This record gives sequence, C-alpha cells and structure tokens, in this order.
Amino acid sequence: MTELDDILLREAHDVLWRELPGLEGDVPLAPLCAYGVGGPAELLYRAETTVALAHAVRTAREVGVPLTVLGRATNVLVGDAGLPGLTVLARNEAHTLDGGILMVEAGAELPGLVSELAGQSLAGLEFAGNIPGSVGGAVVGNAGAYGRSMSDVLVSVHLLDGMTEHVKEPRELDFGYRTSLFKQLPELTVLSATFQLQRGERNALLHEIARDAELRRSKHPLEYASCGSYFKNPSRELPAARLIEDAGLKGFTRGKARVSEKHANFLVALPGATALDIVALAEEVKRRVREQSGYELVEEVRRLGF
Ligand SMILES: Cc1cc2nc3c(=O)[nH]c(=O)nc-3n(C[C@H](O)[C@H](O)[C@H](O)COP(=O)(O)OP(=O)(O)OC[C@H]3O[C@@H](n4cnc5c(N)ncnc54)[C@H](O)[C@@H]3O)c2cc1C
Repeated sequence: MTELDDILLREAHDVLWRELPGLEGDVPLAPLCAYGVGGPAELLYRAETTVALAHAVRTAREVGVPLTVLGRATNVLVGDAGLPGLTVLARNEAHTLDGGILMVEAGAELPGLVSELAGQSLAGLEFAGNIPGSVGGAVVGNAGAYGRSMSDVLVSVHLLDGMTEHVKEPRELDFGYRTSLFKQLPELTVLSATFQLQRGERNALLHEIARDAELRRSKHPLEYASCGSYFKNPSRELPAARLIEDAGLKGFTRGKARVSEKHANFLVALPGATALDIVALAEEVKRRVREQSGYELVEEVRRLGF
C-alpha cells in the first residue's frame, strides 16, 4: 500500500466512524457465526433499522471500503483472517401485518417470526419455522424445506441496488433451488420483504413446527457447530448426503472438522476447529465424491474472506 492509499483508507474509515454511531473495530466474528470459527471484522456495524442498514451500505460504497452484509451468519464460513472493511449485521427486525400481507425487515429472525405468525393463525411460512437465520438471508439463499421455499410465498422485495432503492417482484429476482439474483450480484442488499399468508388453524400450525423441530433433532447433529447442509443436493432424488455416505466418508475428519456420523451432509466443527479445517474437509469430500460417483458437489455455504 502506498502512502497515498494509506491516507485515503484512513479518511474512508474516519467517514464511517463519523456516519455510523455504534461502529466497532476489530470485532471477533466467530461468536456471531453458526460455525463458531473465523477471524475478526475490521469494522462491525449493527444496523437496527432499515434506514440505518441502507445508510451503512451506501456510506461504505461512497468511500470505497469493502462491504459484507450479514444476517445471522448461519450459512457463511468466515476465513481465519476475518473480513476486511465494513461488516454490517442486519438487525432491523420490525414487521407489519395487513390482513394476510406480511411486510418484514431483513434482520428479523425467521424461526421466531414464523412461530409468532402461527400463534396468530397465519399460515404460509411454517416450512421455515426451524430454519435458523434472518429473513434477508433466507431470501438471498431462497431457503426452504420439504419442497417449499421462500420465493413460493414472496410478493416483493425492497432492496438496495448499488445506491438506489427498488421494490422487485420474485419473477425479477431469478429464484431457484437455494439461489437468487442476490447471490450473483453483491451490489444488491435486501432491506425488507413482503409475503402473502393465509388463515390457518393455530394448533395445527404450531404442531407442524414442533414436529419439524423434533424431526431435525433426531436427524441432524445439532450438538455440534455447523451451517446445516454444507452442499446442495444434486437433485431431490439424489441428496448430497447419500453421495458422501456412499463414498465412505461418514466420520471422516480433517483437523477439527468432521463429516457427521448422523447426517453426512453436515460438516461439523469440533471444538478448536479453524475455518481452514472446514475448507480442507470440504475439498477432500468433493474430491472423493467426484472420484467415487462422478458428481461435482456444489457448496450451499458461502465462503467469505478467503
Ligand atoms: C442447523 C441448521 C439448519 C439449517 N437448515 C436449513 C434448511 O432446512 N433449509 C435451508 O434453506 N437452510 C438451512 N440452513 C442454512 C441457513 O439457516 C439459511 O441459509 C438461512 O436462510 C441463512 O440466513 P442468515 O441470516 O443466517 O444468512 P447469513 O449466513 O448471514 O448470510 C448468507 C448470505 O446472504 C447474504 N446476506 C444476508 N443478509 C443479507 C441482506 N439483508 N442483504 C443482502 N445479502 C444478505 C450474506 O452476505 C451471505 O452471502 C440451516 C443452518 C443451520 C445452522
């Protein structure tokens, strides 16, 4: 870095410190991430309102500082060196209901929201009642379970494209299996989303969410840190877990990262794991599955800061 670069960077950071009250420096991200690994954020800002979220993103862009927007970090693997520039945590959590129309801010925590809706006899999102993370993260990854996903219920997304706010319909956002336009275009930020819900039967909805939680407890290694399924399923008929199991990899370990014995598509972090352990394990799993079956596994979990 030249002396001029250094001065410009310092000036950019000064602007962020001035514009973003509550900004913190050198904040460990591991405790904030489902994987429990990864280095610090150079700068971290918790955006408690949609206005604050949009302002933080715009300011980082204006001054040219690297930017990462996170929800609850349940689908990201942060590298051991951490994240440069500004990391913004979406903590805008308000929602409004107008009949069956739900408008919810990106930072709202999805399982809590879905339970609350079920308690009010509102149906549509119960498939997501046990998907950890935020509404924004779920829209970005088109999170889903049991053949249903966020885009099935979505009416529109209020987003920031570069510096400009828009409202887009799902057909404009390229949704697919665990993907969307947001995954292709990092300049897009989810600010809030609107969903169409229906009247449902309160007890049946609450029972469905509880039964799903029970099923997950029996099938998933929830006692270990993970990001859920690490790889996408090549198809509904061919789950990634089966390919990994057929390659004889259940229990396979690299450093302190392990292919779960309980569910082979969970690459779990044992105590003391590093991000590099998880990456090394994932690469070896991909290599062996490729050799054994010819399938190229594709990550669902997003690597950041590598
Ligand atoms: C135990 C466990 C079980 C899981 N089960 C499921 C499951 O059944 N189905 C499923 O689909 N997923 C599952 N997941 C994965 C995870 O819960 C989802 O992907 C979730 O939707 C991620 O939300 P998040 O807020 O944590 O996103 P993050 O991990 O914070 O972010 C994910 C990506 O979205 C981006 N992002 C986040 N918020 C915004 C925003 N507002 N604007 C722009 N970009 C943003 C981030 O930069 C990152 O690239 C599971 C995870 C765990 C740990």
